[in-house]
Amino acid sequence: ALTVDNLIEWINNFSQKVNEHKDYLSELDTPIGDGDHGNNMARGVNAVQESLTNKKPAELTDAFKQVAMALISKVGGASGPLYGTAFLEMAKKSKDTTDLGELFTAANEGVKKRGGAKVGDKTMVDVFEPLAEKLTQGLLEQSEIDEAVEGTKDLVAKKGRASYLGERSVGHLDPGAMSSGYLFSALIETEG
Ligand code: ADP
Ligand code: MG
Ligand code: MG
Repeated sequence: ALTVDNLIEWINNFSQKVNEHKDYLSELDTPIGDGDHGNNMARGVNAVQESLTNKKPAELTDAFKQVAMALISKVGGASGPLYGTAFLEMAKKSKDTTDLGELFTAANEGVKKRGGAKVGDKTMVDVFEPLAEKLTQGLLEQSEIDEAVEGTKDLVAKKGRASYLGERSVGHLDPGAMSSGYLFSALIETEG
């Protein structure tokens, strides 16, 4: 279960990780993309923090919406609308439940619908889907986050810029999977 206060802690924690690993995320995006993922995400999370500081949300639904709006307006690229969709779906779902498994299952469905990717396409879905399932089972651990992110290395990209490389995308981690991994790590550190 999630409250406004632990959502804010989670998101601040995520923001810290993104800023700390900004260059690494952009490095991951260089061989199989356009090298901007770290900059895109840092811009987004900084806008999120500004929004949550300027106007503390009263309800969880408002909090998710504020996160979504800041990400949509500031991240850009392919990942901006997809992260935005994830948080908008969690906003909707949070009217009925604060269960993290249900919230992330809704987020994952939204991302898949919006971007057309499925598991195995070497995208953030390769992190969201298995880890939403783990959250539902109530046993998400860092080792599983690492496994999901690492698992994208051997995949052939089927969506996004990396898909232009076809087989040559093999051997590289997906940057969006890595940033999604930070989102889940930030979450379990908050809950713990
Ligand atoms: P851009 O490719 O426009 O520069 P980013 O570099 O910010 O955008 O984000 C790239 C990441 O977005 C990829 O690593 C991948 O995880 C994710 N992504 C791209 N397209 C899709 C898609 N159709 N479905 C899910 N995730 C996607
Ligand atoms: Mg990019
Ligand atoms: Mg770009």
